[in-house]
Amino acid sequence: MAFDIFLSPPHMGGKELEYVQEAFQSNWIAPYGPFINQFEEKMADYIGVADALAVSSGTAAIHLVFRWLGIGEGDVVFCSDFTFIGSCDPVFYERAVPVFIDCEPDSWNMSPAALERAFQDAKKEGNMPKAVLVVDLYGESADWDSILPICRKYGVPVIEDAAEAVGALYKGKRCGSFGDFAVHSYNGNKIITTSGGGMVLSHNRMAIEKMRFWSTQAREPMIHYEHKEYGYNYRMSNICAAIGLGQLEFLEEKIRIRKKMHQFYAEALKGIPGYIKEHTEKNASNCWLNLLYITDNVIAPEEVVLRLQNAGIEARPAWKPMHMQPVFHAPQFYPHSKKQIVDEDVFSHAICLPSGDSMTDKQLERVIHELRKCFG
Ligand SMILES: *Cc1c(COP(=O)(O)O)cnc(C)c1O
Repeated sequence: MAFDIFLSPPHMGGKELEYVQEAFQSNWIAPYGPFINQFEEKMADYIGVADALAVSSGTAAIHLVFRWLGIGEGDVVFCSDFTFIGSCDPVFYERAVPVFIDCEPDSWNMSPAALERAFQDAKKEGNMPKAVLVVDLYGESADWDSILPICRKYGVPVIEDAAEAVGALYKGKRCGSFGDFAVHSYNGNKIITTSGGGMVLSHNRMAIEKMRFWSTQAREPMIHYEHKEYGYNYRMSNICAAIGLGQLEFLEEKIRIRKKMHQFYAEALKGIPGYIKEHTEKNASNCWLNLLYITDNVIAPEEVVLRLQNAGIEARPAWKPMHMQPVFHAPQFYPHSKKQIVDEDVFSHAICLPSGDSMTDKQLERVIHELRKCFG
């Protein structure tokens, strides 16, 4: 399919190329170098955590945290159900067992009620999870003031998957500062990109130091190559970090543009049988993607996506919940309530609209025009 309007394409601010050239001139074209250190320091500062580790992807970042937490074969991990598979792939790498938790209707993030029920059962069965993996979905924060006390009560560490929420706030604090560990993704379609990359963020400097060691093949500090543990080749390159530094300087502007676009969509689509997903009050979303929820079953979401695609516009259905993915064979799943499965409902009604901050007014108008055509 040939698109000329994309869901969330890369958008460079200008400084990126300058920094990449600097990296070339100094010949730091390696998973070491000054831009990596700068990118880590500036990102840790911006998010409000003590330390950060730049790696090759968000998925790699989650995997490193799993290793630190000692998650292994047969260990249970409570996971947000409504998310992208990158959240959960490390569960396979370590042969752990996911238990999926539905989302709640307001933020579409992990349901505290379902989480509490899952913990009660786990306690009864004597099979407590090793970690809870909570996603800040589509750039909007999870309800941390409800989720964190539950996890603390049961003494289980929290991994915050802030892959989609770089720069978003919850009650004035940045996403990525709430979990014991948090991760970012800088993949091509995320709000900032290093072409491919990720970050582990934490207040625990010792843990970050150990993950840094594992991410560069666990080389002991000796003159020859000595290995007492196995590692990974997960470190970010200095070139990617140069791009990341430029993107970080551009991030606030990108969020400003996306917020405006969010308001524009909400206004322009008034009157159709559906609405643009609003953000809860405590949340300052980074507006990574705009979701259109279609009401009254007037048209199937896939049909809208196909019609937009035929007009050269990239759109996608909302994430297909993890418990519905065939790769997990009949996994355990906790719905929001006995009567309500929230994420299945969202999946069958909502689509993601083009939300890139490089979109022109004319392109936006075209998206609106094509959308309105779908609703007659
Ligand atoms: C993109 C994404 C990931 C994976 O990040 P990569 O950098 O693509 O490995 C993980 N979780 C969520 C919620 C994501 O959207």
